[in-house]
Amino acid sequence: MYCIKCGVELADSEQRCPLCGTRVYHPDLERPDADPLFPPDPPVSRYKVTQAGGLFITTSIFLLGMLMPLICDISLNGGVSWSGIVIGAVLLAYVFAVLPFWFKSPNPVVFVPVDLAACAVFLLYLDLYFDGGWFMTFAFPTVGCACVISTAVVALCRYVRRGYLYIFGGAFILSGGAILLTEALLNYTFGLHSRLVWSLYPCAAAAVIGLWLIIVAISPRLRTALQKKFFV
Ligand SMILES: [Zn+2]
Repeated sequence: MYCIKCGVELADSEQRCPLCGTRVYHPDLERPDADPLFPPDPPVSRYKVTQAGGLFITTSIFLLGMLMPLICDISLNGGVSWSGIVIGAVLLAYVFAVLPFWFKSPNPVVFVPVDLAACAVFLLYLDLYFDGGWFMTFAFPTVGCACVISTAVVALCRYVRRGYLYIFGGAFILSGGAILLTEALLNYTFGLHSRLVWSLYPCAAAAVIGLWLIIVAISPRLRTALQKKFFV
């Protein structure tokens, strides 16, 4: 007799396939009462890493990633110079990738602004380190815009839970505006052009996509037609 699922050869006494666990049943065969040929598989004990243990290991790796450049920098230059940037970047990665796991159910409405605030702080550090003078006129308003738009989208999606087409339509249109603002600020801060050059195209594309989403949201007939066409 053979297993109907995996094809392994079975002894007549077998109640279940020892390999895949499929029940053995043949209507015409009498099955003698005997012990199965193989003992049941012992449960495989897996070494489990708890979340706290994982966090401890990850945090240690990140700390090491900050300490090593700091030590190198101090021993080579007698102070903190370039290692500040490395440490800032590692900290930023930590805030993005690891910090949410400190919480039981991380809330994106909190972590999106926290991540962007961390970005802003890192950019401020870079600005001060390189004496760039672009933080207040370029980085801060750009990151601020991104923060407001993304936090609004995440909060609406989480708490309103409907009207996604309106939410994303609005977000596209606002992002188009943010792209215009970004170029204007770039031009102002770095004295590039006296008028907008490249940002009009992505802005127009974003506005068209946003308007299209809102039109689809407004018109139930169009929505049904699209759903039928694309099986969504
Ligand atoms: Zn089987």
